[in-house]
Amino acid sequence: MGAQLLNGAIIAAKLTEIVKQDNKEFQSLYGVTPGLTVIIVGDDPASKVYVGRKHRACTEVGMNSEVVRLPEMVSEEELLQEIDRLNADSAVHGILVQLPVPKHINSEKVLERIRPDKDVDGFHPINVGNLCVGKENLVPCTPYGIIKMLEICNIPIAGKRAVIIGRSNIVGKPMAMLLLARHATVTICHSRTKDLAAVCREADILVAAIGKPEFVTKDMVKPGAVVIDVGINRVNEKLVGDVDFHNVNDVAGYITPVPGGVGPLTIVMLLHNTLKAAKLQFSK
Ligand code: NAD
Repeated sequence: MGAQLLNGAIIAAKLTEIVKQDNKEFQSLYGVTPGLTVIIVGDDPASKVYVGRKHRACTEVGMNSEVVRLPEMVSEEELLQEIDRLNADSAVHGILVQLPVPKHINSEKVLERIRPDKDVDGFHPINVGNLCVGKENLVPCTPYGIIKMLEICNIPIAGKRAVIIGRSNIVGKPMAMLLLARHATVTICHSRTKDLAAVCREADILVAAIGKPEFVTKDMVKPGAVVIDVGINRVNEKLVGDVDFHNVNDVAGYITPVPGGVGPLTIVMLLHNTLKAAKLQFSK
């Protein structure tokens, strides 16, 4: 018997309806339409696809969406000036700079320039700090979406052993904070972790955010564990996760597919954060 599939597309559709409704209420209350501006630098094909999805998702729930396209060779200063312009624009409630930016631009500087209350990615140090002290204000979309998925599927977190593979600022670290805040016992693993398989086998909840196709194999998973696959890897023009889905499916209790697992949740949490950012700006 296979694991129960955690269908991100279905859960995301439900959450999208909730955001759409909340957005309507916000608009009738304040007479303002929440707006997201995404800045994309250069021509990375994957980034273009992601930005296109974000734009469509915004318009589908009735939010304003603008994409600012800057050339690959734009200077860091010009990009920072663009962020300043958007920071000052009251019609823009959320700002997101699509990562990665070209190598000549310091991404830390860029993320720190976005006004914290417009930082819908939740990457500004102020929002990271808030998350660390248990204030979930604007939280990174991918791990936040995973938490929503676990909650909607009534998967208990408190008291469980959670193991996260990957320590990025985008996924691994915020994922750990969110699980910790919900009383899981959390271990973060990374490229220097010794005997990774043994650590992973202790997990009731295993989150893979590595960026290596089918890295997590059956022998790394405790029977009945919840396996969340964040990875998006392109192999022979096909999308593959970080989990060897076919074999892990035999041992896990729950599993997310790729595509159609974590990805759709990331997008809907961006909409949620855009609305939240607008609310933050109007509650001042
Ligand atoms: P990253 O490259 O910043 O981090 C990868 C992490 O994996 C690092 O912390 C590294 O220490 C760890 N790692 C690498 N090799 C390892 C090994 N052999 N053993 C243990 N740990 C190892 O990646 P990221 O930004 O966190 O993204 C991870 C994956 O998730 C990528 O495939 C990315 O495309 C995907 N992603 C998906 C979504 C989504 O919406 N589904 C969002 C963000 C990222």
